Amino acid sequence: MPRYEYTCGTCDTNHLIHHGMHDAVPLCELCGKELDRRVSGFRTRSSTTSPPKIGTVTEDFIKTARDDLKQQKEELEDNR
Ligand SMILES: [Zn+2]
Repeated sequence: MPRYEYTCGTCDTNHLIHHGMHDAVPLCELCGKELDRRVSGFRTRSSTTSPPKIGTVTEDFIKTARDDLKQQKEELEDNR
């Protein structure tokens, strides 16, 4: 499966996505908007500043969302 680099113009995140050549444009995992295909890899942009690791943003986001949900649930249970 080929691997494509996408960027989200809405929340400014990078995504590495595996999909077939004729599949539809993938959606951003964070905001659900269509991603923009990157023509050239972002690793060519600069050698001094390393780009954020792909997946880190998403994993952090999911973890934060989970923690928030857990906290909200606990608060609800406390109020009973
Ligand atoms: Zn997005």
